Amino acid sequence: MFDTHIHLDQYDWSKLSTLIAHWQEQGIQHVVAVATNLSSSYRTLELHHRFPEFVFPALGYHPEQPPIGEQEKRELFSLIKKEHQQIAAVGEVGLPHYTKEKLSASQLELVEEQFLEWVELANEVSLPLNIHAVHDSTERALELVGKCPNQRAHFHWLKAPFEIRQKVIKSGHFVSVTPEVCYRTRDQQLVREVPLTQLLVETDGPWPFDGPFKGKQTTPLLVKEIVKTIAWIKGLSKAEVEKQTLENAYRLYKR
Ligand SMILES: [Zn+2]
Repeated sequence: MFDTHIHLDQYDWSKLSTLIAHWQEQGIQHVVAVATNLSSSYRTLELHHRFPEFVFPALGYHPEQPPIGEQEKRELFSLIKKEHQQIAAVGEVGLPHYTKEKLSASQLELVEEQFLEWVELANEVSLPLNIHAVHDSTERALELVGKCPNQRAHFHWLKAPFEIRQKVIKSGHFVSVTPEVCYRTRDQQLVREVPLTQLLVETDGPWPFDGPFKGKQTTPLLVKEIVKTIAWIKGLSKAEVEKQTLENAYRLYKR
């Protein structure tokens, strides 16, 4: 099993080797460790060097924070160009939704321009995008990704209106669901709509979940529960879902 979106650099580093050994024993083969800014990108690369088989690193800048400064952007872009053969994706990048109203019209224009630069960078170094762009931001993000034909993308924890979900699916991009799919009908509906060949699983850890996971630490082990739920929704065996979602992740995130 492959957790395709986790903030591994936010876990307790002193416990990571024990934790990862345990996760591996339980069947978690790899994770895409996504970064949120420049320092998180350096930490994520270091995690890849420490756990080269387990950690597929993605470098980027989380869109739900103020627009990236020029200096940080320049350093991050050159880091990605230099390390592009080591890394699995550009991410987490995208467009803001939750913090959008804090932005002025000109800032919003700037973050859209910057996202297009991320798309072009990923295209230049032939890496997929690990994208955060939910609700009213999904459609614009999809349009901007479309400016680079053949660019591969993964819309993580997708939440969007029906028509926009359909557009994402038709575009052939990948979509992932989190542990929320185990207890929320909105996410279960998404699983019904997305063909198994385009579906990925992720935890967005250490993000805390509700429902049966309330009060528990989020780890890649929750991917097992997601696989179980997808199997139930699609009327397939767990083994089939496990196999296909792993193949999908390899197809997108092959280093
Ligand atoms: Zn995230």
